[in-house]
Amino acid sequence: MITENLNQIKESLPSSVTLVAVSKTKPVEDLQEAYDAGQRIFGENKIQEMVNKFEVLPKDIKWHMIGHLQSNKVKYMASFVDLIHGVDKFKTLKEIDKQAKKNNRVINCLLQAKIAKEETKFGLSFDEIEKILISEELQNLKNIKIVGFMGMATFTDNKKQLEEEFLSLKAFFNKHKTATIKDNCKLETLSMGMSGDYNLAIDCGSTMIRVGSSIFGNRNYN
Ligand SMILES: *Cc1c(COP(=O)(O)O)cnc(C)c1O
Repeated sequence: MITENLNQIKESLPSSVTLVAVSKTKPVEDLQEAYDAGQRIFGENKIQEMVNKFEVLPKDIKWHMIGHLQSNKVKYMASFVDLIHGVDKFKTLKEIDKQAKKNNRVINCLLQAKIAKEETKFGLSFDEIEKILISEELQNLKNIKIVGFMGMATFTDNKKQLEEEFLSLKAFFNKHKTATIKDNCKLETLSMGMSGDYNLAIDCGSTMIRVGSSIFGNRNYN
């Protein structure tokens, strides 16, 4: 099923959209099947789980951390992570920079914007993002690169609301995209859309979707 699901989704995507296969909680056999079907970008939301999978799976996989970050665990993935989606604190950026430097590399990051109307714990307001983008301190972080934004819409079937949330982030993204701000900040990626809403997210300007259950089936958390 995984191969069929993946092929079906890939065929429907515009070439401008990158698919992240969200494999959290799934066994390595499932990831291997997706890999064999050509998938190379995988998203995980727990650092330890991602490290375990990284160690046993092919080395040309690009690993994306899509979950909320604990600063003290950044070091475990700093040698290999390809893109970190969920950065929602300046302090976390500093820690990523420090660990990237130790590994002699630059780590790409997305700032997570709070776009959902529902109460969510994570994400930065647009004001807070702007503050980071213009801060003097950002220029000192030579080992990170902010390559775009990530957003999660409200968990709802209300299409109008989802659309509003996605479009608000797209507008904010466009506003800052053209104003090249710093050497370590080049906004190219807008990560929004999951299994339930990725088509709408793409219509609203998403360039990267994070799809789990539509590829791997429902997750069993027990
Ligand atoms: C789990 C998760 C996804 C994928 O969710 P599905 O509904 O299974 O596609 C996408 N983004 C984030 C941040 C996630 O935690």
